[in-house]
This record gives sequence, C-alpha cells and structure tokens, in this order.
Amino acid sequence: MYNSKAIILPNFMSDIKPIVIANWKMKLGLQEAKSLASDIKNKVTAQIEVAVCPSFISLTEVGKIFSGSNIKLGGQDCFWEANGAFTGEVSAKELKEVGCEFVILGHSERRKYLGETDEMVHKKVSQALAAGLMPIICVGETFEQRQQGAKDYVLIQQTTKALEGLEINASQQVIIAYEPVWVIGSGQAIDPNEAAAAHQVIYQSLFDLFPSDIVKNNFRIVYGGSVDETNVSDFTNLDKTSGVLVGGASLNINDFLAIIKNV
Ligand code: PEP
Repeated sequence: MYNSKAIILPNFMSDIKPIVIANWKMKLGLQEAKSLASDIKNKVTAQIEVAVCPSFISLTEVGKIFSGSNIKLGGQDCFWEANGAFTGEVSAKELKEVGCEFVILGHSERRKYLGETDEMVHKKVSQALAAGLMPIICVGETFEQRQQGAKDYVLIQQTTKALEGLEINASQQVIIAYEPVWVIGSGQAIDPNEAAAAHQVIYQSLFDLFPSDIVKNNFRIVYGGSVDETNVSDFTNLDKTSGVLVGGASLNINDFLAIIKNV
C-alpha cells in the first residue's frame, strides 16, 4: 500500500556511530574462537560499535572474554518459539542469557541450506524483539533473481514479510543487512552505488510499514558481502548506511582490525 509519508526522507542516522558486525559462521572451533576474541578485545580500540557473532557453542566463552569491553555479542540464529520441545534449537531468551545483544536472522545460507522462509524469519524477529535482542535481518537477491530483474521485488518482499504486523517501540532497534547473495564469499563486493540504491528500496519498504520517526530512529541498514579493508569505507560513507556485516574478513585479526580502522 502506498504511504505518503514515504516521500519524506529525513537525514538518517547522521549522528550515530557506524557498526561493524562480524559473522564467524561455523568457521572457528572453540579454541580458535577464544583466541580471536582475545585478540579483538586487546586490539580493537576504535570508537565505533563492534559486534561479534560466534557459533552457539562459543558464545558463552567469547562473551566472558568480551565482558568489561565495548565489544558486543550476537547469535547467528534463534528459534521461532520461546520455549518447548524443539530438539537442537536455541531460543532468543537463551541468547540473551549468555550476554547477546544481537541476533542475525534470515541469513542467505540458512535460507538456502535450511529452507528458511520469510514466515520463519518473521517469527524469529518477533521472538528476538520479545527477548530484548536486536535482530539483524538479512535480505538480498540471488544472482538468478537479479538477472530476472527481480532484485527490488525481493528486497521489498523479504523486508516486508520479516516485519509486517510487528510493532516496534521507541526502545527497540532493528538492523537490516543488505547482502546480495551472489557476492557473499566471492571476494568481489558490489558497486557501492548499487548498494545505496538497494538501501533506498529497503528504506522505502520500512516507511510503508512504520511511522517515519520509528524508521528514522529505530532502524539501521548495513551492507554485507565481501567487505574488506579496501572497500569498507566505500560502503560506510554511503548516505543511509550505518555499517557493515563482515564474514570472511572478520576471521583474521589483521584483516578485521584494518576494516575497523578504515571505517
Ligand atoms: C556473510 O556471510 O554475512 C558475509 C558478509 O560474508 P562475506 O563477508 O565473507 O562475503
């Protein structure tokens, strides 16, 4: 539905520190995770927001290492129910209990390998918010969808279905991560201008869903997909872009420090 408020575009987030989110995926064992977490705690000094999302197994230990520092902790997923007989799943409340402030939801790898649908993502977002976590909702088109000219449609659908019907109050924060699926892990990020256009489409969807003051104050959009030290500032300098989600380049301390330095 068309929303006339959507044409008013305030000066987004100009006074907010950029965020760098590390997605460690299933790439580090517990000892490797602890070692990298110690390096991050000892070496990251920049005054930007840094959040690290280790695997479930490593969350508690990594959380202990980060305690007393400014480095924040996030999960890579949560289940769509609050509690119950769901063998193998982890609730948003459990993430909160071990010190998480964030949770990545709807990552393209989960959509691809685990059949995660927009409906599942929606329920997970609802659980995350109820537990007091900040959802990092991943949206993005595949190469085939891009070739079919469906990129904007996919972004609108994924954003809308994840959030439609939810109330976001003034104390809640949501991050949308635009991650073009075809560049994740490829070593080649997209043209920053293309990311800016995608972020505009996502903002438009948010304006269609929520009051403009909520969109302005409670949502951030970050870019993810082959971010490295050479390209990170191209993305963080974009208007309406609040940071980056980093996979591969967050696994090496020097690469990660260089990204933070260049933001
Ligand atoms: C990701 O998977 O969320 C991601 C951004 O990965 P990479 O930086 O390796 O492309």
